[in-house]
Amino acid sequence: MGTSSLGLKIRGLGKHFGETAVLRGLDLDVVPGEFLCLLGPSGCGKSTLLRILAGFEAPSEGTVETEDGASLTGLAPSRRDIAMVFQNFALYPHMTVHDNIAAPLVMRRLSWAQRQPALGALLPGGRAIRGEISAAVERVATQLRISHLLGRKPGQLSGGQKQRVAIGRALIREPRLFLMDEPLSSLDAALRAEMRGEIVELQRRLGITTLYVTHDQTEAMTMADRIVLMMDGRALQIGTPAEIFHDPRHVSVATFLGSPS
Ligand code: ADP
Ligand code: MG
Repeated sequence: MGTSSLGLKIRGLGKHFGETAVLRGLDLDVVPGEFLCLLGPSGCGKSTLLRILAGFEAPSEGTVETEDGASLTGLAPSRRDIAMVFQNFALYPHMTVHDNIAAPLVMRRLSWAQRQPALGALLPGGRAIRGEISAAVERVATQLRISHLLGRKPGQLSGGQKQRVAIGRALIREPRLFLMDEPLSSLDAALRAEMRGEIVELQRRLGITTLYVTHDQTEAMTMADRIVLMMDGRALQIGTPAEIFHDPRHVSVATFLGSPS
């Protein structure tokens, strides 16, 4: 899989929907390769931040640059090399696991073929391309330990298996930034604990910069290299789990965490 991982420089990021300000001047540096948890109460703007990075929303103000100073928000979403995993998995129910994971590559090939009509006539029957895509699916499936499930449909999978498929589908494009929005919240407690470890292990292995949204302190404390405490559309404190927990810099951080001080 790809080795490049993105760093980000977010400055003064604002987003409002009508009168409602959701992000209010958020500043944040994301270090290439880190596992960064966005932790904060419901409604503080975590999902909105991820949606802006992925390109589903445009910011109202502020800038997002990659570490080399290029504007990220100026790029079309398809050119950002960013993949996102959602809470509800969003798998295609009528397609096999293999085809769900392959879908982003197939779509990329199709849009390429549409720009090259002569070559496009070879698709989707082109055996070489199909073989290449299936090899990529096998590789991702092996990493996620779901090779034995490739012929099944989502309805025949457990919650944890669906989650792995969703992660596989996100990773197959070899993104430079991986966004996860409360990916474990629909799983039961035991499975959640198991998946926490798996996701961290996978992230370490791939070295891909990861922004992981959660409102669950335990999740953030056990998974993150660094935590961003978000409150009211701002980054209130950024630090390692130990720093955040033992040295909360703001009374609302301490209150949210329930830590002494
Ligand atoms: P979080 O993920 O931290 O729970 P969100 O980013 O989803 O928070 O939402 C923050 C606030 O923005 C919420 O009050 C939500 O209702 C509001 N919001 C999010 N998206 C929209 C939208 N498209 N239109 C209007 N309000 C929105
Ligand atoms: Mg959310």
